[in-house]
Amino acid sequence: MRLGLSGSPGVGKSTFTEAFGRYLTGNGHKVAVLAIDPSSARSGGSILGDKTRMELLARDPNAFIRPSPAGGTLGGVARRTREAMLLTEAAGFDVVLIETVGVGQSETSVSDMVDMFLLLLSPGGGDELQGIKRGIMELADLVVVNKADGDLVAAARRASMEYKAALHLMRPKSAHWRPDVLLASALKGVGIAEIWEAVEAHHKALGDAGEIASQRAKQAQAWMWTEIREGLLGALKGNRDAVRLLPQLEDDVRAGVITPTLAAQRLLGLVFGVSKG
Ligand code: GDP
Repeated sequence: MRLGLSGSPGVGKSTFTEAFGRYLTGNGHKVAVLAIDPSSARSGGSILGDKTRMELLARDPNAFIRPSPAGGTLGGVARRTREAMLLTEAAGFDVVLIETVGVGQSETSVSDMVDMFLLLLSPGGGDELQGIKRGIMELADLVVVNKADGDLVAAARRASMEYKAALHLMRPKSAHWRPDVLLASALKGVGIAEIWEAVEAHHKALGDAGEIASQRAKQAQAWMWTEIREGLLGALKGNRDAVRLLPQLEDDVRAGVITPTLAAQRLLGLVFGVSKG
């Protein structure tokens, strides 16, 4: 199973991953945890850079944690994360959890490589919802309101109602699955089993409908095109003549001396021997 997990910093992703991962290894699963955010884009280092945040899971022989690679672009990290996913699957890990910070583009990247997307929210309710892009909520197959413990239980229940109402207004991603909102306390280990049940139910519903297979096929095809695009760009950036010519072409395009189309054609002609667009 390929799962995506997203949520704003501080919502409890590490704590949840530790609890969820330990629950799964305790039930005979092998869990791989990967991250997709390029650490260079975040202050304070990578999302999983500090394995001590998942101390028990990190020491669990049935778990593998791969911190976010240092530096690099989102595209580059996404490619490596996909490869790491295939490798861990080949190595016998049956659940792959890919984490990301809920801030933007990386969610789309993650949802392009997983079967199911989990969104972790805090009991903040409507206020938090405003801070989260609608697009991210639309990607969610399951919303988990974390920190539903102690004084926060009532707020978590209220938030859950609000999120349910918000989800109802959105077009479902699949005809075979209605996204739901569950309460959890990653800290106290409450609601973890129910979340796993929902994950299994989702897997069964989409699996029976053939949607997991068709979604993975589409994702593989899109991945190929990403590789082609990146490969072409790489060839361009690796061509000395092109690299030398580029600043001049950019200046000329900015100054209106040459049209963007013609500039692009010149560059492509230089690198690939293509004379017309
Ligand atoms: P991340 O930045 O999303 O990975 O969040 P962390 O897992 O590092 O958690 C941020 C803070 O929230 C830490 O102080 C956690 O102890 C706390 N926290 C995480 N989950 C829960 C929870 O279920 N209940 C409560 N009360 N606190 C939590």
